[in-house]
Amino acid sequence: MGRKGKWGEGNNLNMRYKTEEYNKWYREYRKKNAAHKRAIVRKSSARPEYVESRKRYMEVWLKNNHDKVLANRRKHRIKWRARWMFKYYVKTGKIKRMPCEFCGNPKSQGHHTDYSKPTQVIWLCRKHHSAAHRKESILANH
Ligand SMILES: [Zn+2]
Ligand SMILES: [Zn+2]
Repeated sequence: MGRKGKWGEGNNLNMRYKTEEYNKWYREYRKKNAAHKRAIVRKSSARPEYVESRKRYMEVWLKNNHDKVLANRRKHRIKWRARWMFKYYVKTGKIKRMPCEFCGNPKSQGHHTDYSKPTQVIWLCRKHHSAAHRKESILANH
């Protein structure tokens, strides 16, 4: 009986010692490994042939998607203009801030559903605003 207990205790102590050692080693190993992996990625992405191929790829892509790029640029310009005008209107009090339409959060942001109408917005809190954008990008991709 007594002997068994002694053995058990000894084993438990040993086990605990082993796991703590092991955990420490494993943490260190993972840390070292992550740094090592990062170094490899950094090295390979800085390699001249890699940079060159990425540049070539972009050039070809731009050439093949010229209208897309232009359309995108135009869209962005309209978007920034709408945002800028909207901000100005809020600042000058022409547009009044409203609470989030979904949850009533007073910390709301104006969300444009149509950038050609800068004053027309839906008021959404941060959470619902990003949700609205996610939904839009999902719809846009289909
Ligand atoms: Zn909300
Ligand atoms: Zn928005």
